[in-house]
Amino acid sequence: MSHDERTFVMVKPDGVQRGLIGEIIGRLEERGLKLAGAKFMQIDEELAHEHYGEHEDKPFFDGLVEFITAGPVMAMVWEGADATRQVRQMMGTTDPAEAQPGTIRGDLGLDLGQNVIHGSDHEDPGANEREIDLFFDEDELVDWEKSDAEWVYEDV
Ligand code: GDP
Ligand code: MG
Repeated sequence: MSHDERTFVMVKPDGVQRGLIGEIIGRLEERGLKLAGAKFMQIDEELAHEHYGEHEDKPFFDGLVEFITAGPVMAMVWEGADATRQVRQMMGTTDPAEAQPGTIRGDLGLDLGQNVIHGSDHEDPGANEREIDLFFDEDELVDWEKSDAEWVYEDV
């Protein structure tokens, strides 16, 4: 399996305000994933509509746009074997009230509308690449060798 799958991850405004950026980055680093890009930024209305376009017709859409633009986010690209699915597993289910303890949402959240973290959907092929392109220019992503790779992966 390749070790260079990239996925888009974002600490949402509630996670930033609650001081959880370090906790979330720490979990992803400890897992063995490699950071490929990061940007502390404010999402505007237009970007919010593009990013959450698939939910445009849902009753919660306006509230979702209001929430995701309500304060800065930490947008990131993480890389590793099966990274998209692995990050989704670490995140837990969408509703933190139902998420397993040990997951990011299950440990750090309580409310569906404020669930701390976004990660690309592994069941939507190409969602990771689309979201990375939406948030990052190619020259904002870094190709680098992480020196512990041979201790994370058996077949380096
Ligand atoms: P995710 O991929 O696990 O983030 O979940 P979805 O793609 O289904 O939904 C995107 C985001 O919309 C979620 O992370 C929540 O922040 C929000 N959301 C989804 N469903 C609901 C809902 O029923 N009510 C509210 N208030 N927010 C929701
Ligand atoms: Mg989703």
